Amino acid sequence: MPELPEVETVMRGLSARLLGRRLRRAAIARPDMRWAFPAGLAARLTGARVTGFRRRAKYILMRLDGGDSVLIHLGMSGRMVLAPTGSAPPAAHEHLRLETEDGWTVGFVDPRRFGSVDLVATAAEDAHRLLAGLGPEPLEAGFTPAVLSAALAGRRTPVKAALLDQRTVAGLGNIYVCEALFRAGISPLRGAHTIPGARAGRLVPAIRAVLTEAIAAGGSSLRDYVQPDGELGYFQQAWRVYGREGERCADCPGAPGCAGVRRIVQSARSTFYCPRTQR
Ligand SMILES: [Zn+2]
Repeated sequence: MPELPEVETVMRGLSARLLGRRLRRAAIARPDMRWAFPAGLAARLTGARVTGFRRRAKYILMRLDGGDSVLIHLGMSGRMVLAPTGSAPPAAHEHLRLETEDGWTVGFVDPRRFGSVDLVATAAEDAHRLLAGLGPEPLEAGFTPAVLSAALAGRRTPVKAALLDQRTVAGLGNIYVCEALFRAGISPLRGAHTIPGARAGRLVPAIRAVLTEAIAAGGSSLRDYVQPDGELGYFQQAWRVYGREGERCADCPGAPGCAGVRRIVQSARSTFYCPRTQR
């Protein structure tokens, strides 16, 4: 499933090809993905010029000169495929296709169709039902230890579950929560109410670091953000604890007390952590 850094990389790749361009043609191949496409979507897109991009949590907003924003979610398996127009037949499971007047095609391909596309007025993006309840963006200045402390104060749920709650902070998924808690030396089992203060002071920069490094890795692994097959945004990442059950964690090589990375299940999802360094 694409996580925030992949979504950011996809957005940058789309921006590199689409920003400032006019859409000569838009076509949808079926009436719906996760939800029905909005009425008149293809007509609203055709002829519009792309004026900007924004990421909010794991949503991409593509802004058009007519005052619409296209709200895109990649779902579980969605990807954007770029190719010169006419160079290849549409990929299987391509549900939305955009063609620019300068000769590029963007296909939104999603076999499982958990992805979605909607339209929202650019002036009212944050009021859209999918965005209205989201907490602060983790990479923006408003996400501070004080803000995180206030969001976690008094909450008895484990800190891991609290960080996955999109109202606490927007766009964090299972992998990055595990990695950020490891960086911050905080046990995923710890009650959220114990985080405010010094631990929040470690956790905020840890969250920023794991996301920033992953975005940098995504950008550097792609030439112009486009892989040779034209696909945007997926990349291999070297996790420090995620998926490393039983391995020595990166922070305690040879340490006598380290029994290796442990996997537990919290809220039906795997948590990876080092019981020695994460307290
Ligand atoms: Zn360890």
